[in-house]
Amino acid sequence: MTQQPSDPIVSIWILGDQLLAEHPALAAAEGIAGDRARVRVLLVQSLARTRRLPYQRKKLVLLFSAMRHYADELRARGYGVDYVKAENFSAALRTHLATWRPAHLLTMAASSYAGRQFQARLGERFGLRALVLPNTQFLVGRYNPIPDPAPDKQYVMEYFYRDMRRAFDVLMDGDAPVGGQWNYDKENRRPLLKAQQPPADAHFAPDALTREVMDEFAAWAPGVGSVADFGYGVTRRQALAAFDDFIAHRLADFGPYEDAMTERSHSLYHSVLSPYLNLGLLEPLELIRAAERAYHEGRAPLNSVEGFVRQILGWREFMYWQYWRQAPGMVEKNAWGAQRPLPDFFWTGATEMACLRHALTRALETGYNHHIERLMLLSNFLMLGGVNPAAANDWFLSVYVDAYDWVMAPNVIGMGLNADGGLTATKPYVAAANYINKMSDHCAGCRFDPKQRHGTRACPFNFLYWNFLLEHEEKLRANLRLGRNVLGLRYLDDAERAAVRAQAQAFLSAECGMAPKTARSAEWRRRRRGVRSAE
Ligand code: FAD
Repeated sequence: MTQQPSDPIVSIWILGDQLLAEHPALAAAEGIAGDRARVRVLLVQSLARTRRLPYQRKKLVLLFSAMRHYADELRARGYGVDYVKAENFSAALRTHLATWRPAHLLTMAASSYAGRQFQARLGERFGLRALVLPNTQFLVGRYNPIPDPAPDKQYVMEYFYRDMRRAFDVLMDGDAPVGGQWNYDKENRRPLLKAQQPPADAHFAPDALTREVMDEFAAWAPGVGSVADFGYGVTRRQALAAFDDFIAHRLADFGPYEDAMTERSHSLYHSVLSPYLNLGLLEPLELIRAAERAYHEGRAPLNSVEGFVRQILGWREFMYWQYWRQAPGMVEKNAWGAQRPLPDFFWTGATEMACLRHALTRALETGYNHHIERLMLLSNFLMLGGVNPAAANDWFLSVYVDAYDWVMAPNVIGMGLNADGGLTATKPYVAAANYINKMSDHCAGCRFDPKQRHGTRACPFNFLYWNFLLEHEEKLRANLRLGRNVLGLRYLDDAERAAVRAQAQAFLSAECGMAPKTARSAEWRRRRRGVRSAE
């Protein structure tokens, strides 16, 4: 029977990053309406939200194609679905509510602070019963075993992770960790061998619906990257296939090489699952249990399985927890007083530094870098260069396919730039060229020398690193985990200190000058001044 606008119905507004097969509002709405045919689902493509930053075009294709496929899947399951393109979320809701006049509007709590503020006012704003259900996309949101530390107290990831392992009984042998150790980091810091070629990650040919979205965003302005070679999965079925491919071909070597960097492979042995997890196409516990099974069935060693589980049950959940612990205002934190603008080459990849050129080009083309590229190349450079954390945060938000507010602030402001006063990470992740040379093959083809501290061939990571230690010597000395790095300063005499400082200043004024050099960064800075809202 065709549904009429006059039928009393229950509406569900499903947010774009909540594409859960078992979205809790579906069951709840059916319970209230008594019949699936009287449930109406709304999915909104908001123009205002899409224009907030110059987003990665592949991310827009991923998001909107996944939403449209999800809408089709719900229709196939018997739900009435409105997929609406609107100026903003309010306009879409207003039209939807005027058309269907539902008795209730159900949503699931947004992962972002601004989103939840918007949801909290829905009932009052639209004059109906609005119900916001708890978010089920994060384990720490479902059951929180973590103590409530005082606002200024650190609660380190390692203890958080152990609490989560115990609470969800993951890789446990009674009260003890399987294998007798909580972590295998010591086995997991290898560079790639010379002839080693990691298998490629999964690629999915776009179907007609995805090609339609690619056409829509091919020339989208503002935006970075291109829609060409789009190969991300856009359905739960494809996301599961990507996960199976990871388990079969890369999980076993994930651990040893998780910190390695190379020009020979896009993602090494990493899973490239964050785009799907963050959209709700995959759920954390199903990945954790499957990885555990792979260990128990002898398909992957413990150091790799524990390393992978740590990423999802540890880091991902910890970041979500930190985001809410520090919300709102985390993005404005700037504990190191860093004020320089983002270098223009972050928008083009045009730099002589081979490591940054590789990582930036890949990020702009594909919307992906693996963790160590994000942390020890890009964030490390921005931290050493004193780049403003909010500006850096917006760049990461713009460029990556897996970027959302909840994951960006703790990773960039907290972990990458240590701008939250050390609540997320107990030390700034800074390193000179030696680390990059040891863990990657970038330096071999680079015009800079990783061994020189200053001079025309010196790698900028070196003079920026020593300049950073000199600038912040007192503060760094107070940090137990960095005291040893500061001790290295005793090998620099006055002349070398002056040379390092002068070269760092000259480099930073050339690369992070106050006047934007390209139209892209001028446009981007203009947008950053715009007001943020959930719309
Ligand atoms: P794998 O290495 O295979 O790890 C498995 C999964 O663990 C990932 O898919 C991811 O869901 C989870 N994970 C691991 N570390 C983290 C972490 N620190 N925070 C959250 N989840 C984690 N992650 C995002 O999902 N979106 C981002 O926009 C993002 N931006 C980052 C920016 C910076 C500066 C840094 C330092 C890290 C960022 N991360 C982000 C975390 C991490 O780098 C990515 O989750 C990871 O690189 C995704 O690739 P993968 O799926 O191959 O991960």
